[in-house]
This record gives sequence, structure tokens and C-alpha cells, in this order.
Amino acid sequence: MGSLKDSEHANPFLDVWAPPHETPPFAAIRPEHFRPAFDSAMADHIGEIEAIASQTDNPSFANTIVALERSGQALDRVSSVFHALAGAHTNDALMAIEREMSPLLAAHRNRIHLHDGLYARIKTLWDRRAALELTPEQARVLERYAVTFRRAGAGLPAAAKSRVAAIGERLAALGTAFSQNVLADEQAYALVLDREEDLDGLSEGVRAAARAAAAERGMPDKHAITLARSSIEPFLRSSARRDLREKAYGAWIARGNGGGATDNKAIIAETVGLRAERARLIGYPTFAHYRLDDAMAKTPEAVRALLDRVWSPARARAMADRDSLQELVQQEGGNFDLAAWDWRYYAEKLRKVRCDIDAAEIAPYLALDNMIAAAFDTAHRLFGLTFRELHDVPVWHADVRVWEVSGPGGQFRGLFFGDYFARSSKRSGAWMTTLRTQRKLDGELRPLVINVMNFAKAGEGEPTLLSFDDARTLFHEFGHALHALMSDVTFPMISGTRVATDFVELPSQLYEHWLEQPEVLRRFALHHRTGEPIPEDLLHRLLAARTFDQGFATVEYVASALVDLALHLAPEPDKIDPVAFEADVLARIGMPAEIGMRHRSPHFLHVFAGSGYAAGYYSYMWSEVLDADAFEAFRETGDVFDPATAARLRDDILAAGGSRDPGEAYRAFRGRLPTADALLRKRGFAAAATG
Ligand SMILES: [Zn+2]
Repeated sequence: MGSLKDSEHANPFLDVWAPPHETPPFAAIRPEHFRPAFDSAMADHIGEIEAIASQTDNPSFANTIVALERSGQALDRVSSVFHALAGAHTNDALMAIEREMSPLLAAHRNRIHLHDGLYARIKTLWDRRAALELTPEQARVLERYAVTFRRAGAGLPAAAKSRVAAIGERLAALGTAFSQNVLADEQAYALVLDREEDLDGLSEGVRAAARAAAAERGMPDKHAITLARSSIEPFLRSSARRDLREKAYGAWIARGNGGGATDNKAIIAETVGLRAERARLIGYPTFAHYRLDDAMAKTPEAVRALLDRVWSPARARAMADRDSLQELVQQEGGNFDLAAWDWRYYAEKLRKVRCDIDAAEIAPYLALDNMIAAAFDTAHRLFGLTFRELHDVPVWHADVRVWEVSGPGGQFRGLFFGDYFARSSKRSGAWMTTLRTQRKLDGELRPLVINVMNFAKAGEGEPTLLSFDDARTLFHEFGHALHALMSDVTFPMISGTRVATDFVELPSQLYEHWLEQPEVLRRFALHHRTGEPIPEDLLHRLLAARTFDQGFATVEYVASALVDLALHLAPEPDKIDPVAFEADVLARIGMPAEIGMRHRSPHFLHVFAGSGYAAGYYSYMWSEVLDADAFEAFRETGDVFDPATAARLRDDILAAGGSRDPGEAYRAFRGRLPTADALLRKRGFAAAATG
């Protein structure tokens, strides 16, 4: 290696990383390291693939599937670091690399998935699977390879394969462009509140967050509302200035739809067109059929049936709430029809009337540190996990915190990284990802797991206070993190959260239920100044308010899920105008004009920044059928920390990762499959459900 130049020699991706945890040396990683690291890792991977495909020995599980599971580790290392940074702490240089790499990485995957010699070996093993005497986990991994390759276009005639490959590369570039356009629109906008009257109605907490957001954008001593959900939603709930609410709301729903260089409409039409074409080449009538065939739901009809069942009672509830909100407008002497930018503001007032609950009254009890402690303590009570903060692990931003996670016997289970605060270098939303997944293939390798949030950071020296929704998001993402941290499988292919998209939200949404337990809130919802626990009557009012405004929440979500499904069932989707299409779907389902979609198509990152939730946004509700029913398994024992039920959750769901079919895993946990009844009760639509 003597010919390597100094700059290449210093590339951290070519080094072994420091023990004990071999975490990425973030301080040493610079944008210019990625391209050479990607190139060398992709070349290594192709070398490994060719060696597997061209060997003269007959295919065996060991020389083909195990060898594939061992391959590509250098690429996993560079990709996982890159994608973590591209989401949580990006910059112009990383965004340029992302644009350059996404089609190259798609081409790389195609070279593997469409490799005839390799697929022939997998196919031979699959056809002979009954004779191979595999363990259940090995059989599942073989099945996942056979399915993944077939669904990627392996085995198609040459012309179809090359078209599938070209489509994959183009889709990757479109996904990156879509995501970068949304981020650009979010970075470009801030509603600057200059005068005291612009702050009318805003609590001290919202003002402090607005000062921090302005400072982060180089405007100290001002207040700014950004398009991050954690900034704009509290503003829309509390600003008494209807004109400013309208302005901010208008900018929020216009992301990706502004008509300029960052407009996403053409990207959407091309994306859905290419997805449909690829699905047809692989043998499915539409992309939705293709997508759902490998999900727990299996068919668009099953998804539609669930969404329809929830839609009618949710819409009825929302329409009744709308009338109550309109009455409030009139009572205040307002001479206007309620609009979408008014809903949250008047709903907050109605919440005060109906539930005697004020968001500003709750926030002092929901300090970020206490909610992190509550999430950790719940994991301790359910699964015996303990968390110890480490201060010497390299991180990508000074705000990132790291904990060592240990099991009941003190054994190391992984590292947990928490990146909690919104900043302009971070994509909006909240997510979990990994720098390394668990596997036992060549000795036990424990995972490095990340949670990313977009909480509005408090000013210097002040504790960050969360809304109850923020706290729920924290528990949600932590539930995903546990899925990765508690994974206990041999093969990376099926590790942790590598399960069907409509099953993956089960651990995360189930975990949210523990936040709502009085015994958890009594211990952790402590006033940030006095340390006093949340008063009992406030606690009861808070929990009683859980089903408040669920009509709105369900309608905004289901509308997005139905538009996603319709886009991917459309016969000629490349011909559509996405905004007109969206309006048409909403008109057909009777969308209330006063409620916006949770995500409009031009900024629907779940669906268009890559295909993660394409024809899959319904997954949250599908998983909610599971989580509502699964939590009842705890309730039925009379102890929401019941050890035997927790042990089944650990063994059958969390530790199992993707090693079992999701329906089978759920049945093992619960003894039966769920129905939607528990979900409808949870959302407060129980009366409608029995009709
Ligand atoms: Zn989730």
C-alpha cells in the first residue's frame, strides 16, 4: 500500500476503528473521504460476489448464503455512516455526494441482484430447500434471499433486467432530489417575529424555542418559527395572530410545491410512473400490488378495508369537532369560517374547555431528560436493561449523547446514540437508524443504534421541555431502538428491524403505551424547577384527554395513507398531476376542508425520499391494530409490566427480528391474530365500531 498518497492513507474508512466498540471516528471523517471509501468498498463487495458466483463447488447454504451474509461489510460501514450524517447533520458537500452516490449505489445493488450466476445458485438452493436440513432461522434467511432477488428482477429476460436496472438507478436519483428539495425549502424559510404583537398568545416555552431557532439561523435577539414540526405545530396551536398562522401554515404545506427549482411535482409523476413500470416487468399489475405482496397486509384490498373501516368513524368525529370549533370562533366574535390554519388553535381552546388541559400547564413536567429516564426505566422494568451514559464515544454533533446498554446479567447489548434537537442541518421528522446491526455469524457483534428527533432546543441553561406528543415520539423511536438492541439472531439479513414495514411499527407504537401509564408519569413527570411530581388531577385530566381530537389526527393520517395507496394503484401514474390527483382523492373520500393532510405529496418524504413507505404509509395503522391488541395482553394480566408477557414480547417479537413470518411471530406472542377492535377503542371510536 506504499503508493497511497497521504490524503488517501488518512482515510478513516480504510482503518480499523478503535476498540472496544469500533464506533466511527466522526471527528476524523471528512466529506472527501466518502467517495474513495465507497469506491473501494463497492469494488471489494463485487470481488466477494464474483468469488461466490464463480466457485466450482455445488451451491450449499454455507458457500452461497452464509458467504453472501459475510460479504459487503466495508460497504455497510461506509454507507451507514454516510446515511446517518446525510439525515442528521448534512451540508452542501455531503448533499453533493448523496446526489452522486445514490444512483451508483442503486447500480451496485442491481449488479448483485441481477447477477445470473449468483441467482442460479440461490434458486438451486431454494428449489432443494426441503432436502437441505436447515434450521428454521437458516430456512428463513434462504427464503428472504429468494424473495428479495426475485422481487428485484432476478431471472427476468435480459431486456427486462436491463430496464429494471435503469429504473432502479433513476429512482434512486429522484429520491435524493426529492428529499433535498424538501430540506432546501425548509432551510429557506423562517417566519421572523419582529414585534411584541407578533408573539401574541405564545407561551414562554414557545418563545424560548423561537429565540433558539432564530439564533441558530444567525438572528440573535429575534424569534423565528421554522417549518420543523416541533416549531410550527406549537405556533399553530397557540398564536393568536390569525394572519401569521395563515402565513406559516401556507409555507408549511407548500414545501416541495413552490414551482421553482425545488418543486417536486415532476419528480413525483416520474417516480410513480417508473415504480409502476418496474412492478409490471416483475409480474404485478401495479406498484401497490408489488409492494404489498411482501408485507403482512398482502393485498391493496386488505389495506383499503382497514383504512375504510377507520375512516368513517374518524371523519364523523372530526366533523362534529369542527362544528364545536366553529362555535368557539363565533363565541369569540370571529366572523370567519374555520380554516386549516385555525384548527389547532381552536382545538387547543376546546381542549381547555372539554378536558381542562392546557399544553403550557403540562410542559414543565415533561423535561427531556426525565422522559429519556422514563423510556430507559420502562426498558429496565420490562427487560432488565440498564443504561450508562458514556462521554468518550465520538459523535457527529456536540448535542449527541451516547449510552452503553447492558442486559440483566450485565452483558453488553449495544450502544444507543440520542440526537434530540432540531437544527437546520437535520432532515425533519424523527427516526431510528443503525451504524451497525446485531449478528452472531462470526462471533457476537452488538449493534450501534441511533434515535434522531427534532425537538426545539431550550435556550442556554434551560431544560428542554417537551409536549406530550414529543414525549410520545421519544418513546416511539426508542421502541424501534429496542428492536435493534434486543435483536438476537445469527444473520444480518434478518437482524432487528429488518422486518415487513407494516410489522416494524409494532415495537415502536407498542412502546408508546407505557408513556401513558400513571405509574410511569408519577415517577418521571416531575416539575423541572421544583421536582414535584405531576399533580394527580392534572395527570388524570391528561390521560382522560388522550382521545381528544383523535378525529383530526386520524383523518389527517388516513387521508395521506389513502393518497399514497391511490397513487400506487393508478393505471397510468406518469401522466398524473400530483396536486390535482391528490385533490381528486380527497374529494372522493369527503375530506373535511378544515383539515390538511398529515403529509401532502410534494413533501411526503416517507413515500418519495426513497421507497421506504411507498404504498406503505398505511403501515402505522396496520401496526396499530397489532400494538393496541398487544398492549391488551399486558392489561389482561392486571400488570402492565407483567414479566411473563414481557418475556414473550422479548422472545417472539424483539429478539426474533425478521427470523419469523410476522403473522406467525404475532400468533406466538398473543396466541391468535388481532382484530381492529382494540385500535378503535384506543382512538375513542368504540361506539361506531360496534355498529
Ligand atoms: Zn416508527
